[in-house]
Amino acid sequence: MRFAIIGAGMSGILAAIKLREAGYDDFALYERAARLGGTWRENTYPGIACDVPSHLYSDSFEPNPDWSHHFSPGDEIYRYFEGVARKHGVESRIRFGAEVVRCEWRGGRWQLETANGLRDAVDVVIAATGVLHHPNVPDFPDAASSTARAGTTRRGFARCSSCRPRRSARSRTTSRPSCASRCRARSTAPGALGLRDHGVEVKTDKSGRSYYALYCLKE
Ligand SMILES: Cc1cc2nc3c(=O)[nH]c(=O)nc-3n(C[C@H](O)[C@H](O)[C@H](O)COP(=O)(O)OP(=O)(O)OC[C@H]3O[C@@H](n4cnc5c(N)ncnc54)[C@H](O)[C@@H]3O)c2cc1C
Repeated sequence: MRFAIIGAGMSGILAAIKLREAGYDDFALYERAARLGGTWRENTYPGIACDVPSHLYSDSFEPNPDWSHHFSPGDEIYRYFEGVARKHGVESRIRFGAEVVRCEWRGGRWQLETANGLRDAVDVVIAATGVLHHPNVPDFPDAASSTARAGTTRRGFARCSSCRPRRSARSRTTSRPSCASRCRARSTAPGALGLRDHGVEVKTDKSGRSYYALYCLKE
């Protein structure tokens, strides 16, 4: 029996490991991005962390005694899942840059097509396509001149946003905004980036949605 797993975030990685454990080794993972990690690849806003304790937000078969925090930072979580995928030989099974754009039940099998021209015929499709890796960029006035990229709508919070370029934001000496999520703004504002001087401002985009912008005033 052949399987296709769509998405190489933590769900897709885990599905691959568990398939193999159950004796099914004929599978491929399709990932549209160039790297695995899903949510933890795309969201890099200042102060990002899990909100379930790290020791629980881990695979049961891969406990990690080295978590740095009770709620560890996003890049650490990313590295954890990357390490799990590598250790369990999942990485080599991922077809990167392969967005599945068609999935049709024909001739008793699922016929898959990717945007870059790959085709596959499988018996079972596991959709591990996630939700929170989709950027949600607010339409704020100085967006064009900004390094800011907003991210996802978070569970349990209405209309929050997150951002990607933590590293570039850190080095800015101008007042270019870097979006912090509304839910995280209180925790990120007081120096999450190690900024000596910064400001937080509430802004409203054209649709009336408000969000926080974290300004780096000087390096
Ligand atoms: C800041 C933040 C904190 C969070 N904290 C927690 C927490 O503490 N506890 C918790 O349980 N959850 C938390 N979450 C939710 C988190 O999204 C999930 O826990 C988990 O990471 C989802 O993994 P996933 O693999 O299901 O999906 P994703 O991480 O979204 O991965 C999906 C993957 O599928 C790929 N993909 C999508 N469509 C296609 C396609 N058509 N073809 C090919 N590839 C495709 C994407 O590129 C992506 O790599 C948090 C989310 C955020 C943003």
